[in-house]
Amino acid sequence: MISETNANTPSGSTVLVTGGAGFIGSHLCERLLDEGHDVTCLDNLCSGSRENVRRLLGQDGFTFVDADVARTEWLEQIPRPNLIFNLACPASPPFYQVDPIATMKTSVIGALNVLELARQCGARILQTSTSEVYGDPLQHPQSESYRGNVNTTGPRACYDEGKRAAETLFCDYARIYGTDIRIVRIFNTYGPHMRPDDGRVVSTFIWQALHGDDITVYGNGAQTRSFCYVDDLVDALMRMMSQEEISGPVNLGNPCETTVMELAEMVIELTGSNSRIINKDLPTDDPRRRKPDISLANETLGWEPRTPLVQGLQETIAFFRGIM
Ligand code: NAD
Ligand code: UDP
Repeated sequence: MISETNANTPSGSTVLVTGGAGFIGSHLCERLLDEGHDVTCLDNLCSGSRENVRRLLGQDGFTFVDADVARTEWLEQIPRPNLIFNLACPASPPFYQVDPIATMKTSVIGALNVLELARQCGARILQTSTSEVYGDPLQHPQSESYRGNVNTTGPRACYDEGKRAAETLFCDYARIYGTDIRIVRIFNTYGPHMRPDDGRVVSTFIWQALHGDDITVYGNGAQTRSFCYVDDLVDALMRMMSQEEISGPVNLGNPCETTVMELAEMVIELTGSNSRIINKDLPTDDPRRRKPDISLANETLGWEPRTPLVQGLQETIAFFRGIM
């Protein structure tokens, strides 16, 4: 364990959030600032936006750095952190597949860069891994001990395997250098600050419904996901970072399973839309079922999601109405 970390200080830490201008990162930056931390938000804006952090720009304690986590120049330009949240990586399939080699570099070289920084600064560092490390799972629900069913050569592999390799690097830094790591595996999360064009199912369906466009259900819509509202997720990230008991990996997500068809119907009802549901081809390697076993998070972090899907969808719909 590293001695110089200030990780349990309730306020006053110097925090680096990579990917801080993205969907989850922007909510996390806001929460950290509210709790009195100094926050450096590092982002190359490839899938995030300045708009997400506009309210924070100019606030005391908030610094935005436009840089690529997979490069190294920025390492000399930021305050030495004692906490690092590593979120940099496009999360939606259309975005991470635009430049799969860049996605792999971000995941692996980016992880290496932030780990080196953590080692040098004695910082505690948290990796946002993903349910995608389980691939198209053969075990249901997925617990942390399940090793996954990932296609190493498919179009999702740049993300899935990049995230798996990052977990390996984190564990090796802990074993070899005693770096104070945390790993969480996030399952589908949604909420305000998602991009309407990011291709993920919640944002896509809401945007389509608000415009009266056809709702594009891939396949027959029987595939399932479990959707966690972003405020619940950020709460879990904070809890994971501020405890000493476990380094992870820990699953974070909502165990309430919903089919994609049910989601489409809920969105139509909540928006009062006239949109029709149409079916399109199921993408390659699209997992059929996904549901986290969150017993570990529940036992060790005292955490479980609180926001019902209907309430979270209403908040998200209100956000999207605001940017139409
Ligand atoms: P997002 O795409 O909205 O945010 C990612 C942010 O990282 C963006 O602001 C993007 O511009 C930035 N980024 C990407 N590559 C970068 C690079 N090379 N250098 C610097 N910045 C870079 O996605 P999100 O949903 O907010 O996801 C945040 C993290 O959580 C990601 O690491 C993702 O893999 C993980 N995650 C998210 C979900 C989810 O459902 N949202 C699920 C599992 C894991
Ligand atoms: N999906 C869909 N229509 C869309 C976008 C996604 O039916 O317009 C489906 C997709 O095939 C998958 C589920 O919704 O089965 C969740 O997709 P998303 O890209 O949000 O997340 P992931 O597949 O990474 O869990």
